[in-house]
This record gives sequence, C-alpha cells and structure tokens, in this order.
Amino acid sequence: MSSPISTLALIAHDNRKPALANWVQTNAEQMRALTLISTGTTGNLIADRTGLPVTCLKSGPHGGDQQIGARIAEGTVDMLVFFWDPLEPMSHDPDIRALLRLATLWNIPIASNESTADFLITSPFFQAYDRAVPGFGGKA
Ligand code: PGA
Repeated sequence: MSSPISTLALIAHDNRKPALANWVQTNAEQMRALTLISTGTTGNLIADRTGLPVTCLKSGPHGGDQQIGARIAEGTVDMLVFFWDPLEPMSHDPDIRALLRLATLWNIPIASNESTADFLITSPFFQAYDRAVPGFGGKA
C-alpha cells in the first residue's frame, strides 16, 4: 500500500553534524509534518537549532544506532538520513555497519550526504511510495 514518508531517522557523526543541522533547517517546513527520531547528540543539536520536536534516543556510541536499527526492523522508520564521516574511524563502527545493513535489508531509503538527502526529499515518492518489504520466505 502506498504511503507518505512520515518518520525520518536523523544521525550525523560529529564532523557532519553542522551539515545535517543545516539541511534540516533548510527543510524545516517539510520537517514539521514528520516524526523525527535521532541519536542523542544529533537530535539535541537539531532540536536546539531548529525548534523542531525530535525524539532523542541514546547517543550513537552508547547504542543509539542500534536503537534506530531496531525501529527499522520493527517497521517504524520510513527513511534514514545518516551523514556518517568518511574521514574518521569510529569506535562504534560495528553498530554503524549493523544499522546500514538493516536499513538496506528493509529497503529503507538512505541519504549519507546533502545531495542524496535533497534528491530524496524532493522526490514525488516522498509523498507516496509503495516500499517493497522483504518477505524472507515466511521467516519473521
Ligand atoms: P550522536 O551519535 O548523535 O549521539 O553523536 C551519532 C553516532 O555517532 O552514530
């Protein structure tokens, strides 16, 4: 069944937080209609910067990426905007890989930079999209 994007997960590594906060601010009008969830530090920064309500989970290194991955597996996240840092190694790299794996597995649109995020948010599919959800041969 076709439905609009309604829940957006937002994450940015430290060097990429300003870029994500700018992107959210630029698109604040559209963001207002969405449910925003985020890892702790990213979410607090975006909420402070934009005044938008953001559900802040744990900080990424403390399990926030895993929390978002769990929500993706539960089917409650429609899109992931994750500005990860291509220049710095992260202590919680296994969690990041797991999150990206689940988002890919569950066929969630993922933006890792501003241009991809712009393409997604301006796509007609943002208003209505029939996302194929894998069936896994009947295995839950
Ligand atoms: P943070 O986590 O928003 O708490 O900084 C993001 C991450 O490092 O995955």
